[in-house]
Amino acid sequence: MEQKEFKAESKRLLEMMINSIYTHKEIFLRELISNASDALDKLYFKSMEENLGLTRADMQIKLETDNDARTLTISDNGIGMTADELENNLGTIAQSGSFEFKRDNEKTEDVDVIGQFGVGFYSAFMVAKKVTVISKAYGSEKAYMWQSEGADGYTISEAEKDANGTVITLEIKDNSDEENYDDYLKPYKIRELVKRYSDYIRYPIIMDVEHEKLKEGTGVDGKDAEYEKETVTETLNSQIPIWKKAKTELKDEDYNQFYKDKFYDYTDPLFHIHTKTEGSATYSALLYIPEKVPYDYYSKNFEKGLQLYSSGVMIMEKCADLLPDYFSFVKGLVDSEDLSLNISREMLQHDRQLKIIAKSVEKSIKNELKKCLKNDREKYEKFFEQFGIQLKYGIYESYGMNKDELQDLLLFKTSNGGTTTLSEYYSRMKGVKTEDDNSENDNKTAENTAEKSEENADEQKFIYFASGSSISRIESLPQTEMVRDKGFEILYLTDNVDEFCLQMMHDYKGKEFKSVSADDLGLETEAEKEEIKKEQEDNKPLFDFMTEKLGGKVKAVCLSQRLKNHPVCITSEGMLSVEMEKVLSAMPNAENAKAEKILEINPNHAIFSKLKELFKTDKDKAGEYAEILYDQALLIEGMAIENPVEFSNKICEIMAK
Ligand code: ADP
Ligand code: MG
Repeated sequence: MEQKEFKAESKRLLEMMINSIYTHKEIFLRELISNASDALDKLYFKSMEENLGLTRADMQIKLETDNDARTLTISDNGIGMTADELENNLGTIAQSGSFEFKRDNEKTEDVDVIGQFGVGFYSAFMVAKKVTVISKAYGSEKAYMWQSEGADGYTISEAEKDANGTVITLEIKDNSDEENYDDYLKPYKIRELVKRYSDYIRYPIIMDVEHEKLKEGTGVDGKDAEYEKETVTETLNSQIPIWKKAKTELKDEDYNQFYKDKFYDYTDPLFHIHTKTEGSATYSALLYIPEKVPYDYYSKNFEKGLQLYSSGVMIMEKCADLLPDYFSFVKGLVDSEDLSLNISREMLQHDRQLKIIAKSVEKSIKNELKKCLKNDREKYEKFFEQFGIQLKYGIYESYGMNKDELQDLLLFKTSNGGTTTLSEYYSRMKGVKTEDDNSENDNKTAENTAEKSEENADEQKFIYFASGSSISRIESLPQTEMVRDKGFEILYLTDNVDEFCLQMMHDYKGKEFKSVSADDLGLETEAEKEEIKKEQEDNKPLFDFMTEKLGGKVKAVCLSQRLKNHPVCITSEGMLSVEMEKVLSAMPNAENAKAEKILEINPNHAIFSKLKELFKTDKDKAGEYAEILYDQALLIEGMAIENPVEFSNKICEIMAK
């Protein structure tokens, strides 16, 4: 028998392949099963065209292991190969009979051939020292055997085989330090691999498995239990991918069950998204949003990504490129015919098709969330409570680049009670024209014009927000009092990332975000401003004295325009707010980021008169009060004070007087 060499370039390719294309040796089984499935598809196609009367029910893929002979056998009763085909398809690497088949036959709905690169078969050599293929083409009298021990070459000779189809026998390598090849001889391992990679091959993949069973008549009536071996034929794959079914065929329970089985969750998902897309990319996707943040979500073990299938065959367990970080909580899968099985991770990253799919997946998630926000607020709030923070991080981490994509998905708590979107807030802003403004309103506005222009509030300039660790804390912040009093709605920010996120967004539809602690809230009338300015100037020596006493802890002490009943508060100038300072200093390896703090004093509060008086009569006491007031303002903000003991001693001293 003549030993033929692989074509020169094939030889090098083969070596490369065996050693590098695939990261996991175990995928050889997926490749051989996919080839068998292709062979069955081809026969089915032929039967339809030539009316041969074959049905899918007659077609199957059979796996067998033999421990003694160290062999794993994969057989199919598909189209088979002639001697020429064995020579062409298996003698030349990168020669794909399946690709030619697809090219030559217009793709019919019902045939879903997987192969196209002509390399998958050789992955067998990653685990086998010798591969024997016996094949008989459908309608042919003769069968042939192709045999090879790897790069050296192969032989083809006549062989015996009754029915059409192909039997591939792998003589499994001996165990090595790196790889436990024996595994591929064990039924449990084979079952696991089929489940993982080939569960949705549309033909049954069967295997005879030995079980122990109780011998009849034993183990009862006082007789000892005796066992005997029994062989059962198991079908290893579930065959029909749920995502290939029509939506109308599926109930919520089906989707939920699949989710729980496949993605190891105990609870039903919050919702699912099932799409079939054709066009620049053809793919099906089945996506889920979990009900709760997964337990490992914030651990470093968490990996985002969707399962990636190529025509029902899994090619990647977690394809990270399919999901933007801010949707990293989404679970699910994508199945596309446009992707090839034999594609490495590195290649996938640059795959144009994959990028198109990722964009489109992102869009469907966004649309679904928008739909939910519009139609089922309660559910959306539930979602947002769990994952809203990701969306905010998404905006922050991209320096606001994702703003347009995400801003309308955000929810905030509000001084109006409950939650609001930015668009809802915007539509409630004073003087902002929305579509449903009509002439009746115009009349009203005309009446109030004088008053409004005096207030300088005929149009609300800012979207106000206030930060704090809880709603009740925020509500009791002195800074929020005046803003609410003037009838402005305030967004209540309770997540650490909130203020950073808003800072990145800068504005919504041209309305700037403004902290209630920021300077220039735009609340006062010109007259009020003038009055305060004068008072401020008149008492400059007092404020300078207090600032000096506080020794660099504040940038300035000044009169407040925002306080109504409360004596003092802390505000800030510049980019970094007091709240942001709090967040940053709580982080590990915190940089020493400090807000530029201003101590504001309520000009209408009795304490101000007292300070003025003391400044004249008892400077020491005035200085001491400055320190107490500063500490109080910090406490109101929920910040730590430098010396709590001294603070409480001072208070007691005053109380004891
Ligand atoms: P691909 O599947 O990408 O075409 P492979 O290297 O996996 O590449 O297979 C090469 C070719 O060998 C296939 O295209 C097909 O023509 C042929 N082939 C492989 N396995 C079988 C089989 N079980 N039955 C019939 N033909 C097969
Ligand atoms: Mg293949």
